[in-house]
Amino acid sequence: MILEELRLCRNHPGADEVYLRVMERLPRISLGTVYRNLELMVSQEIIRRLNSSSGQMRFDPVVEAHYHFHCSHCGKIEDIPFTVELPELDSSHPWVRERKIQGVRPDFFGLCPECADYAKTD
Ligand SMILES: [Zn+2]
Ligand SMILES: [Zn+2]
Repeated sequence: MILEELRLCRNHPGADEVYLRVMERLPRISLGTVYRNLELMVSQEIIRRLNSSSGQMRFDPVVEAHYHFHCSHCGKIEDIPFTVELPELDSSHPWVRERKIQGVRPDFFGLCPECADYAKTD
């Protein structure tokens, strides 16, 4: 049920937001239970944990590689809905050869449409 609610939230919610949604269906559940289940699903790679720019932990039900846009004003995290050309590391560089690079997760920052509008009229 926690996973279901997480999938219904389109905006990479934090644990408290998932908790509030699950509580509407299971009024006796505790924040600790929700949190433990989220952590468990992260460790089983069913969901992903994201760090928002505000330092708040967010959860993402999509584990396939995709990229995010963080609004620096309201803290919203959105998926980028189209393919982005990724930066690549020179695999012959000694620094790269010493490491096992598994992927890249670029994050884009700025203002979402609502916050950009707000900034204009302010
Ligand atoms: Zn915003
Ligand atoms: Zn995402």
